[in-house]
Amino acid sequence: MTAPTWTLRCSSCDTAAAVAGASVCAACGQPLFARYAPVPAGTALAARWDMWRYAPFLPLTPGESPVSLGEGLTPLIDAPALAAQVGVRRLRIKDEGQNPTASFKARGMAATVTRARAAGVPGLVVPTAGNAGAALAAYGAAAGLPVQVFAPRTTPRPILDTIEAMGATLVRIDGHIGDAGKLALAFAAETGFQAISTLREPYRVEGMKTMGFELAEQSGWRVPDVVVYPTGGGEGTVGIWKALQELAASGWLASDRIQPQYVVAQAEGCAPIARALAAGADRAEPWVDPVTAAAGLRVPSPLGDRILLRILRETQGVAATASEDAIRSWTRRLATATGIDAAPEGGCALSVLHDAVRAGQVSADADVVIFNTGAGASYRE
Ligand SMILES: *Cc1c(COP(=O)(O)O)cnc(C)c1O
Repeated sequence: MTAPTWTLRCSSCDTAAAVAGASVCAACGQPLFARYAPVPAGTALAARWDMWRYAPFLPLTPGESPVSLGEGLTPLIDAPALAAQVGVRRLRIKDEGQNPTASFKARGMAATVTRARAAGVPGLVVPTAGNAGAALAAYGAAAGLPVQVFAPRTTPRPILDTIEAMGATLVRIDGHIGDAGKLALAFAAETGFQAISTLREPYRVEGMKTMGFELAEQSGWRVPDVVVYPTGGGEGTVGIWKALQELAASGWLASDRIQPQYVVAQAEGCAPIARALAAGADRAEPWVDPVTAAAGLRVPSPLGDRILLRILRETQGVAATASEDAIRSWTRRLATATGIDAAPEGGCALSVLHDAVRAGQVSADADVVIFNTGAGASYRE
C-alpha cells in the first residue's frame, strides 16, 4: 500500500501518533486528529456519488477503494412552515436518516472500517447506544470483518434487529453506553479486535466531516448562521467544525463566515455538555443515571467534552435541553410539517432551537440548519 497522505496529532497537546492502530493521545489521553496538507480551492473532488466525493480531505491512500455502502450526500430540505413555527428566517433540515442503516453513524463507520481493514485487524468491537452498532455491523459485513456489539437492553428493538440481521454478535447489557464501553475495551484486550468508540480512535470523526463539506457545498460554499446538532458523544458536531476549519484554511468558502453558531441539543435526562457550559467549565462531569428515549443522546461522559466546550465558547454557541414531552411533540411536528421521518434526536434539536429563539440566544433573522440524525422508523417498536 502507498504511504498515507495525512498525519495524526493530539487535538489538545499536539503530540504526534502513528497513523495505524492509533487510539487516543499517548501523552494526555485526549482524541487524536488527522492533519492533511491543504487542498487548494477548486481541486477536483472525486467522481463518485457518495461521501467519498470529498476524498482529497479524507484518510484514503492514493488508489485505495474505501469500504462503502453509498453513505452521505443526504438532502438538505427547506422547511418554511417549520421556520415560521420556530420563528427564524430560514430553516433547512439535513436528513441523515437517509443513510445506510438510517443514521449519520454510517459516515464514521465507512471511514474507520476502511482504515481498520487496511491495518489488517481481526475484527471490530463497539459500545453503542444503538445506531453506531447498526452502522458498524453493516460496514463490518461489507469489509468481511467480524463485529461484536455491546448495547443497552433498552435500545430500540428495530436497531437491535438490524445489528443481528447484519450478522454481528450482539450482547445486550444492563446499563448505559458507558457500561458497554468498559465491556468493549475488555473484549478488545482479550481478542485483538479493534475498539472503535466515539473519539477513541481518530477516523470516525473524519467520516463525520463529510456532513460539513456537504453543508457548505449544498449552500454554494457558504456557511449558515446557525447549526443545531443533537449531541451525545460529540462526533457529529466536532466533525462539522473540523470540516469547515479545513475548508477555510484552504480558501474554499465564499462566505465571510467560517463557522456557524453551534447549538448543542441535549435531553433533559442526560445533558453533561449543557450543564458544563452553564457552569463555565472547560470539561464535563459524568451525568449520573442518564435517561432519554432519544437513544443517541444517552451519553453520560463524552470523551469529546473539552473540544465541544471550546467550539461552543469560540462560536458564541448554545447548549440546552429538551424534556421528554417536548422531544415527543417536536418530533411529531418535524415529521408532520415536512414529511421527513424524524428521529427523536431531530425532534430534540427542533425543540431546543425553538426555546433558544424565544430566549434571544439565536437570532430570529438567522439562516438555520438542523440535523435530523436518524430515522423515526428505527424507534417505532
Ligand atoms: C449517535 C447519535 C447522536 C449523537 O451523535 P454524537 O456524534 O455522538 O454527538 C444523535 N442522534 C442519533 C440518531 C445518533 O445515532
